[in-house]
Amino acid sequence: MYIPENHPRRESLLIREKIVEGFKRGIVVPEGLIAHGRGECFDYLIGEKTQYFAEEATRAAAAALLLAKHPVISVNGNTAALVPEHVVRLAEEIGGYIEVNLFYRTREREEAIASWLKKHGAKEVLGVGDDASATIPELFSERRRVSPRGILIADVVLVPLEDGDRTEALRKIGKTVIAIDLNPLSRTARAANITIVDNIVRAMPNLVEKVRELKRKTKEELKEIVEGYDNNKILAEALRFIKNRLDELARSKLTLF
Ligand code: ATP
Ligand code: MG
Repeated sequence: MYIPENHPRRESLLIREKIVEGFKRGIVVPEGLIAHGRGECFDYLIGEKTQYFAEEATRAAAAALLLAKHPVISVNGNTAALVPEHVVRLAEEIGGYIEVNLFYRTREREEAIASWLKKHGAKEVLGVGDDASATIPELFSERRRVSPRGILIADVVLVPLEDGDRTEALRKIGKTVIAIDLNPLSRTARAANITIVDNIVRAMPNLVEKVRELKRKTKEELKEIVEGYDNNKILAEALRFIKNRLDELARSKLTLF
């Protein structure tokens, strides 16, 4: 699809095209298209830029991932469609596993996502077919199926674009959960230990960068970062930022593009 260089919503439309392409490849489900629309709305509210609350959460997330003994990146359709190369890079940087985890699980889609990630450099992708043989309690959807080599034994799980129920279930079985979610009000955002309120297309590259940067720090320094982090404070900052931004916009004279 051709989008003019000077189109005011060009970036957003290009991201949308990636989701649509993922849909055509059998990676994204129709429900994923709706979830993306909800995300777009919140991106509008934060000004479609990475804000300071996301930067602080990203720093804590990078430190937690570097301290983890068994970190796992949980991947769904939208994540695979939008940032496959960054999922692979992050897994390499932290020495972690990539695991496919789907709400609407079919063998075809698991395989489509795994091969898409492999096309982008992934050596191994867990959670496909019989590998998703373990279950986590408290969940009824297909999302409770996990890999015994991955999420089941993970200490830190990165869940970009997660559903609230599953985030809560992962917390209940003692995992440290890092979420990427544009909606600071979602149950996912509220249940996670660390929530990066930003678009995944900006958050994942930033996270890879941060991990690279923090590798130079000692364990003690990393622990200090994680212990000094307060997710409630960050979510409150996000809400306050949106409120103040809307106030400012409401005061300024509306102009036509
Ligand atoms: P929850 O289940 O956590 O209460 P929900 O039911 O509103 O949230 P889901 O459909 O389960 O939402 O998950 C989609 C979530 O992902 C939404 O909160 C949405 O804002 C967020 N989201 C969608 N696209 C993106 C994106 N590109 N980057 C970051 N977050 C996104
Ligand atoms: Mg939900």
